[in-house]
Amino acid sequence: MTHINSKLVHQGRSSAEQALAVNPPLLRASTTVFPSLAAFKSSYRGVTFETPRYGRSGTSTAFELQTAMASICNTQSCIATSCGLSACAAVLSAYAKPGAQLLIQKEVYGPCKALADNELTQQQVDIDYFDSPQQLPDLITPKTSLIFLEVPTSLSMKMLDIRAMAEIARQHKIPLACDATWGTPYFFDAHGLGINISIHAATKYINGHSDTLLGLITGSYQDLEQTRRWCERYGSHAAPDACWLTLRGLRTLSVRMERHQENALHVARYLQTQPQVKNVLFPALPSDPGHSLWQQQFSGAAGPFSIELQPCDEASFEKFIDSLKLFSLGTSWGGFESLVMPAIPHHLRSEKTLPDEGRMLRLHIGLEDKGDLCADLQQALSRLKTCD
Ligand SMILES: *Cc1c(COP(=O)(O)O)cnc(C)c1O
Repeated sequence: MTHINSKLVHQGRSSAEQALAVNPPLLRASTTVFPSLAAFKSSYRGVTFETPRYGRSGTSTAFELQTAMASICNTQSCIATSCGLSACAAVLSAYAKPGAQLLIQKEVYGPCKALADNELTQQQVDIDYFDSPQQLPDLITPKTSLIFLEVPTSLSMKMLDIRAMAEIARQHKIPLACDATWGTPYFFDAHGLGINISIHAATKYINGHSDTLLGLITGSYQDLEQTRRWCERYGSHAAPDACWLTLRGLRTLSVRMERHQENALHVARYLQTQPQVKNVLFPALPSDPGHSLWQQQFSGAAGPFSIELQPCDEASFEKFIDSLKLFSLGTSWGGFESLVMPAIPHHLRSEKTLPDEGRMLRLHIGLEDKGDLCADLQQALSRLKTCD
């Protein structure tokens, strides 16, 4: 079984409690009881990471998901955490020892940047930001403990040369971590590109149904050792219910991603032809500056992208947003439904240099009919009066 589509369906379904059911059961537990003292002792010998000991280290529901995800990502190991942000926070914190330096990409997910700037810097950790691999050699010091990036960047949708990053990280023996939420393992082979620690907000596509939060971190046993220890010591834990829902969502990841891609490309091309739209930021479009890097590093495109409107007044902008019917107004993305989110409030934007004269917004293109989605945008755009 080597193809991702077969793994998506068959991995993570071998729980002993499963009996003859297709799906593993949802096993909720805080306390695990042992049949003998010998069994109790051996569970604490850490034979594997996935030995039931106590609810905090997971039940078979989390183990099934972690095993499936590691296999799907072609690596050895996976850690489930309570949400995508807690997964990013666990990795950043695990390497944020006093005196260490973290190198973080400038336009990472806003809450990660807020964590770094407001919390980690108070623990005598130096944080330096970069936006291209060329800047790294000048920034790396003997204290650099981690390089952390995200592709494409949230909102600004910028691509980065990951192979170049991985080569520099390898030469300096610094672990490279990447928030790979947008591409998912279906479109993005993080470890194949040389990333040591890959982070997924499974809240988004992997669960795919907008009904749970979950974070997943993947990598080799060795590359995840420091993060795993941090998660154990700080009690970072994923609830069995969230793992079960995510395992269920995982089964259809491939079909959903294909449809998200088809719809997103269709809607993006349509928006490019609209006079009220100044720019479409989507690396899958040949006109996007990140297009060739996207082609080299991704096997497909997910459903979120950003657009910049022509300058317009607030009232007209409000009318545009409020008259959308199929696009609901809300943060997050990755569910089956289409969403729109203006790039306000500004604290959500980690990069102050995003174009401001026009209005930025992020669309998530869901699984609706692509013609209906364009028609919905059309009727809303017709209410947008741009300033001359
Ligand atoms: C949504 C998101 C997160 C955070 O995930 P939560 O489950 O909402 O905490 C992290 N990184 C990226 C790129 C995201 O889009």
